[in-house]
Amino acid sequence: MTGNNSRRAIFLDRDGVINELRPDPTTGLAEGPISVKDVSLTNDAIDAIKRLRFEGYFLVGVTNQPAAAKGTIGLAEQDAIHGLVTTLLKSNDASLDDWRICPHHPDGVVAELTMDCDCRKPRPGMLIDAAREHNLDLGESWIIGDSDSDIEAGIAAGTRTVLIGEQNTHKRQHPERASMQVDTLTEAVDKILASSN
Ligand SMILES: [Mg+2]
Ligand SMILES: [Zn+2]
Repeated sequence: MTGNNSRRAIFLDRDGVINELRPDPTTGLAEGPISVKDVSLTNDAIDAIKRLRFEGYFLVGVTNQPAAAKGTIGLAEQDAIHGLVTTLLKSNDASLDDWRICPHHPDGVVAELTMDCDCRKPRPGMLIDAAREHNLDLGESWIIGDSDSDIEAGIAAGTRTVLIGEQNTHKRQHPERASMQVDTLTEAVDKILASSN
């Protein structure tokens, strides 16, 4: 159900969209940071968030963070990394309206974080939950992400989808599934704003 007061939203993946990816120390693959010292915002995150906010979009971060579940880092470090991302956004006047974080993994080693949850992308739980709480019109909304799981979560929730980036090729097997594919976050915002005017 979409009421008259329902709002358009942009769902933003975190790692590779808002903050930079880093080479995983074990695999060398581009992954989200597992230390606060490796946290830095992407070049265009601040401007992109400000532009979307100016156009009236409700902004929700939606991020899978399974490193603590898998025992790679502790939950305190994982929380500190996320805290630094949000602090950097806030200090640049670019806070999101809300965040949804999935800390689970189906094959984790930490019991309380190990489960087959509904929130871990590609499942749409985080988007649907945020839409209910904030009265968001999913059909008029978009997700911006750099992995297949972001795109599939958006499709399952009924949003349009934009795939950005290029670094994490191991998580991008089906780019054709996205409504649009562009190189950068700035370009994603350009296309979204052009399509809504
Ligand atoms: Mg990502
Ligand atoms: Zn979850």
